[in-house]
Amino acid sequence: MANRAGTSHVGSCLSCADILAVLYGEIMRYKPQDPDWEGRDRFILSKGHAGSALYATLAEVGFFPVGELDNYDQPGSRLLGHASHKVPGVEVSTGSLGHGLSIGCGMAIANPKSKVFVLLGDGDLNEGSTWEAIMFAGQRKLHNLIAIVDWNKLQAMGESAKILDMKVLPRKAAEFRWTAMDVDGHDHNLLRLALKDATEQGKGPCIIVAHTIKGKGVSWMEGDVRWHYSYPNDGELDRALTEIRKCY
Ligand SMILES: [Mg+2]
Repeated sequence: MANRAGTSHVGSCLSCADILAVLYGEIMRYKPQDPDWEGRDRFILSKGHAGSALYATLAEVGFFPVGELDNYDQPGSRLLGHASHKVPGVEVSTGSLGHGLSIGCGMAIANPKSKVFVLLGDGDLNEGSTWEAIMFAGQRKLHNLIAIVDWNKLQAMGESAKILDMKVLPRKAAEFRWTAMDVDGHDHNLLRLALKDATEQGKGPCIIVAHTIKGKGVSWMEGDVRWHYSYPNDGELDRALTEIRKCY
C-alpha cells in the first residue's frame, strides 16, 4: 500500500501489525456487516499515521473488500493516509497525536458494557493531553479502558528516549491508579494473555506497554527511523515482501 501510494509510515505499521492481528483476531467483539452495532468493542488508533495497518486489518476481517486497499491514499479514495472515520470500522479520525486516550475515556464512560482499546505510539506519550487522560481515567476507575502503547523506542524524528524519555510511564500510570503491564508486542501468545488479563473486571483502567520494533519483519527497516517517512520503491518492496513472507 505504501509503495503504490508513495506515502509514509510503513515502519510504524509493521511495528503494530501483530497487536492489531491479536486484537481483531482474538479479543475484540464486533460485527463487520454492522459496524455501528451497539454492543461492539471500540478501538481507537491514537497513532493515526499507521492508518494503512488498521485499514488492512479491517479489510481482512470483512469490514470492506480487500481489493479496496489498492486505492489506499489515492485521489478520491476514502482510505486516507491517516485513519479516517469515513472507513467502515474506524471509530474516529486520528493523526494529530495525543487525542486518542481522551476520546477513549469518553467512549468508556458512554459504553460501560463494551471494552475500549486505545493504541498509542510511544511518541504519543509526549502529548500533555495523554497525561490528562491517564489522570482522569484512574480517578474515574474506567474498568473497561485498555491502553496499549506500541513502544518501538522511535518516533518521527529520532529516538524517543533522547527526545523525551518516558520510561517512567508504568510507574506513573500505577500511581494514577492504572494496572500496568509489559509484554513482547510481537508475541501473539503473550499479547493474547495480556489483553485477556487486562479485560478482566475489577482491574481498573489497564495500560499495556508492548515492546515492539519499528519496521518489524524487514531486517533493513527494523529500528531504522528513516522508515517513519520513507516508502519502499519497487525493488525494496519485493525484498521486503520476501522477508515478511518468511515470518509466516
Ligand atoms: Mg514510536
